[in-house]
Amino acid sequence: MSETCPHLEYREEGDGRSFDVARAFCTVTGSFVQPMRADVCNARHGLDPTTDCEFYVAPDGGTAER
Ligand code: SF4
Repeated sequence: MSETCPHLEYREEGDGRSFDVARAFCTVTGSFVQPMRADVCNARHGLDPTTDCEFYVAPDGGTAER
């Protein structure tokens, strides 16, 4: 079973705005995650961040094996 991407954070503010509900934020791209992408980040629907996200990098600094 896939796990949530280690680069996923939830932030209540960013881009000069603040939100009532924390939004998904990718620490690799340094930007908030679009709703479609969030399924990959959260490994929903059988998706796997390590293989299904082009932004993913291995936590040790290397690149993901494909
Ligand atoms: S799955 Fe991709 S977009 Fe989502 S947090 Fe991980 S690296 Fe970022």
